[in-house]
Amino acid sequence: MEAGIVGLPNVGKSTLFNALTQSKQAQSANYPFCTIDPNEGIVPVPDGRLARISKYIVPKKLVPTALKLVDIAGIVKGASEGEGLGNKFLTHIREVDAILQVCRCFEDPDVIHVSGKVDPLSDIEIVEIELLLADAQTVDSTLSKAERAAKSGDKDMIARVAVLKKCKEQLAKDEPLRKLEWDKDEKKIIASYGFLSAKPILYVANVDETDLKGEGPLVQKVREFAAKVGAGVVPVCAKLEAEIAELDEADRAGMLEASGLTEPALAVLAREAYRTLGLQSYFTAGEQEVRAWPVPVGATAPQAAGVIHSDFEKGFIRVEIYSLEDLEQYKGEKEIRAAGKLRVEGKAYVMKDGDICHFLFN
Ligand code: GDP
Repeated sequence: MEAGIVGLPNVGKSTLFNALTQSKQAQSANYPFCTIDPNEGIVPVPDGRLARISKYIVPKKLVPTALKLVDIAGIVKGASEGEGLGNKFLTHIREVDAILQVCRCFEDPDVIHVSGKVDPLSDIEIVEIELLLADAQTVDSTLSKAERAAKSGDKDMIARVAVLKKCKEQLAKDEPLRKLEWDKDEKKIIASYGFLSAKPILYVANVDETDLKGEGPLVQKVREFAAKVGAGVVPVCAKLEAEIAELDEADRAGMLEASGLTEPALAVLAREAYRTLGLQSYFTAGEQEVRAWPVPVGATAPQAAGVIHSDFEKGFIRVEIYSLEDLEQYKGEKEIRAAGKLRVEGKAYVMKDGDICHFLFN
C-alpha cells in the first residue's frame, strides 16, 4: 500500500516530502518494502499505543508500522492532454493506492504561485479536473469495446459495462468516482481500470507558521470542499516541519513546545494517510519487540497473520487476542488469561483496530 504526494508546482511538496523522509530510522530492515527509489520514502506511523503496551510487556524495541510515500512530480493544467509531464504523471498516480494532495494555504510574496495568487480551491480543482478528464478518456476508450463483448452474454463483461456506465454518468456531472458507493466486485473492476478519481484522497493544507492549527479562511475553504467530496484534510506547515525534522530528538521537544504543538504535524499526517489507505493496526507483544502491523479494515485473522509471514496465513489455526484496555487493567498476559479475558478466535474472525495478538499456526 502506498500513497502518492501530488500538487501544483511551488506548493511545498518537496519541502514536505523531505521532512517526511528525514527520519531515516524507518528505512531499516524492519520493513519488507523492496527497493526504494529516490522519489520514494518510508515514513513511520507513530502510535502511542506501542508505548502503553510496553509498560506491561517490556521489549527490546518498539516497531511502528510504516507507509510508503511516492513524490509524484508537479501536475499542471492540461496534464490529461499531455501538458508538462502530463501522462507520465497520471500513470504514476495510477500506481498508488491513495493520493495526498498538497495545497498551498501559505502566503509568501517570495514564493511565486503558478496561477498568480494563493487559492487552494483553484489548485484542488485543477488537479481534480485532470483526474476526471483522464478517467473520462479511460471510459471512452473502453466502454464501447466492453459493450460489444457483453453482447455475447459474457458475465464479466456485462458487469464491466454496468460499472463503466455508472462511471460515465458520474464523470459527466464532473464528480469524482470516489463519491459513489461501490460493492466489492465493482471495486475490483474499478481497480482494474486504474481510475484516478476513485482513489481516496487526503488534502494536506500547507499552512502559514501563524496558522498551525489551520483555522484561517483558506484552510476552512479546503475543509468545506473536502467534506463535499468525501476527503480528509490535515493542516501542516511544511517549512516548520522540515526544520523540526532536522533537529535532534532532544531539541525537537523544545521546538514543538515553542510552536504550541504536542507532536509534529507529520505524525498526524502519517496517521491520516494510513487511515485514508484503509489501513488499521494490530499488535504483537513479546520480549523482543512490541510491534504494530498494518491490515486493511475488514481483514480476517488469517489475512492479518499473513502480514507477518505468508506461512502464518497458510498454517493458521487460531489467534489469541486481548485488548489494550484489558492489559492496562490486569497488568499482564497471565493475569488476563486468569481473568478469562483472553479471547480465542478462528479463521472467520474480522480483525479490530488495536487487537493484541498471538497467532497459533502449523
Ligand atoms: P514544490 O514545487 O511543490 O515541491 O514546492 P517546494 O517544496 O519546492 O517549495 C516551494 C517554495 O515554497 C520553497 O521556497 C519553500 O521553501 C517554500 N515553502 C514551502 N512550504 C512553505 C511554508 O509552509 N511556508 C512558507 N512561507 N514557504 C514554504
